[in-house]
Amino acid sequence: MTRTVLAADFGGTNLRAAIVSAEGHILHRDDHLTPAESTPQAIIAQVIELLAGTVAASGAQPAAACIATAGLINAEEGKVIIAPNIPGFRNLVLTTPVGERLGIPAYIENDASAAALGEFRFGAGRGTRHLLHATVGTGIGGGIVIDRRLYRGAKGLAGEIGHIIVDPAGPRCNCGSRGCLEAMVSGVAFAERARLILQQGKSAILKEIAAGEPPTAVHLSAAAARGDTVCEAEIRHGGHILGLALGSLVNVLNPDCVTLSGGLLSMGEMLLGPAREAMYSLAYGPAAGTLIHLSELGDDAGLLGAAAVAFEHLDT
Ligand code: ADP
Ligand code: MG
Ligand code: ZN
Repeated sequence: MTRTVLAADFGGTNLRAAIVSAEGHILHRDDHLTPAESTPQAIIAQVIELLAGTVAASGAQPAAACIATAGLINAEEGKVIIAPNIPGFRNLVLTTPVGERLGIPAYIENDASAAALGEFRFGAGRGTRHLLHATVGTGIGGGIVIDRRLYRGAKGLAGEIGHIIVDPAGPRCNCGSRGCLEAMVSGVAFAERARLILQQGKSAILKEIAAGEPPTAVHLSAAAARGDTVCEAEIRHGGHILGLALGSLVNVLNPDCVTLSGGLLSMGEMLLGPAREAMYSLAYGPAAGTLIHLSELGDDAGLLGAAAVAFEHLDT
């Protein structure tokens, strides 16, 4: 029988579970809606039943399980410290009940860190040794692979690149600091910029596209694509800031490559062009040779990332 693991991606909207082979093939998958808001204990019980259901339906005998989730994780203790997607989830050990019910070792990992290991093992970072991954979506996440292993740091926080300060006078971030990358360039940040553009009456096209709804990054991007120069400048400026952060990280870590994923990449070259330019403008010496790759795992990054983490635990 091929060696497999149970992988889960616990998002704000979807709870995806899959049986994944060592080659990164998804042999069986189930997509559920994330359990509705209720008590944490009830959510845990539901998650466990969903995962057990996936194992039963697949007929596989996975050797380990890993759940990837947004938020602060203590991987060593198997604890979710804060999961912004899942209200009420605080300081809860998830791995023990999952492991006991399924009878296999269970792990959790931050979703962006898992995605980094997923790209390294199965995606755009295959064959490299050191990798920096950035997720550019609703927020900004990151993960670091050093010497072919996920780098977690002392307390599992490593990779939180969204909280690099790029402007000390910038907007307040959810973490409490000012001018974090995530507060300047992210789905939420672009939505806020779009709101200000409308408030100041600076874009008739954006106003028409948003059509009375609160504007989003998608609206901002659509207005820029229709030739709105104010919206385009906003996106280009965001790309520039993103590139400065990536370039700074590349000078610190000297990875073989940077991989990027997330919904904002749909903005294409308007965001990526200035990001690339800014990153390479900072590159110190050999850092100029660092490659940037777009994610190859797409929507399955969380699942395949969780699988990669489970295999890493099994192999060490
Ligand atoms: P999450 O961070 O929740 O995993 P995603 O990586 O899917 O989410 O990114 C979601 C963000 O990407 C949202 O802020 C959304 O507005 C933005 N987004 C999605 N599609 C586009 C698009 N075509 N153009 C610009 N922004 C987009
Ligand atoms: Mg991370
Ligand atoms: Zn922050």
